Amino acid sequence: MAVLIDGKAISKQIKDELRDKVAELKAQGREVTLAVIQVGNDPASSVYVGNKKKACEYIGIRSLAYEMPEETSEEELLQLIDELNGRADVNGILVQLPLPGQIDEDKVIRRIDPAKDVDGFHPQSVGALCIGQPGFVSCTPAGVIQLLKRSGIEIAGKECVVIGRSNIVGKPMALLLLRENGTVTVAHSRTKDLKEVTKRADILIVAVGKPRMITAEYIKEGAVVIDVGIHRDENNKLCGDVDFETVMPRCSAITPVPGGVGPMTIAMLMNNCVESVL
Ligand code: NDP
Repeated sequence: MAVLIDGKAISKQIKDELRDKVAELKAQGREVTLAVIQVGNDPASSVYVGNKKKACEYIGIRSLAYEMPEETSEEELLQLIDELNGRADVNGILVQLPLPGQIDEDKVIRRIDPAKDVDGFHPQSVGALCIGQPGFVSCTPAGVIQLLKRSGIEIAGKECVVIGRSNIVGKPMALLLLRENGTVTVAHSRTKDLKEVTKRADILIVAVGKPRMITAEYIKEGAVVIDVGIHRDENNKLCGDVDFETVMPRCSAITPVPGGVGPMTIAMLMNNCVESVL
């Protein structure tokens, strides 16, 4: 029977640890401040921004909310980032993506001071990860590593397969597994015979962005399966990239959706905010 990896419980554990750390910092007269910028009012983005604000409140991080109208120009947004980069009392800056079409996301990400880049998207942060230097790490893949470690799952020496090579999930995920001494394969839409590749995996990380695509025949008996995907199915029910019902009986451990990787992303964002003052 597969062990269910409880992302909700593990993320709570991390948030409680961070709360203690923030209290310690406050006792030394140091405050942690995150600036969150949202441009426009995309409903999904508003939900994410609201959840980040709630997590900040729980941990004791001061959050500054900047809500800018949909028609904001690139120049206006860059100006705000420059101002926040220059403020000594702001430790972390987060620009909620996606941005409206008139704004170049890459340009915006590059403008954030890497020392305040708590999302870990700046090329300098990604480069640091690549060459094994300290820097902020993209929150979702960092959360996956915490799920594995805190569930007592050894990564070193294991065959790790990541499906997906996006800049925010697949690529940093592969680099982190490599840092943990896994033997890493990255699969993508041009991979030939995906099943043959995934069936080698002791640890399979699925970030393919296709609802329930990964079924039992992709899984080696006893594998650990981490499902990064998040979708609403035809009945408006949340589901992942993994077909949980058929895959679960074949694995030794699996993350559910919801309640697996999802809650870890915010916990790791909070972790990056706290690290930004240490
Ligand atoms: P992207 O769409 O950016 O990337 C998907 C990747 O999957 C691409 O590299 C693509 O390959 C690959 N792919 C697509 N189809 C196939 C296929 N048939 N076979 C093999 N590989 C394939 O997605 P993201 O990385 O941004 O996100 C992945 C999933 O994770 C999504 O469901 C997203 O909603 C979810 N997500 C969840 C988060 C959380 O907090 N839980 C946070 C971020 C994302 P190619 O590069 O060749 O096109």
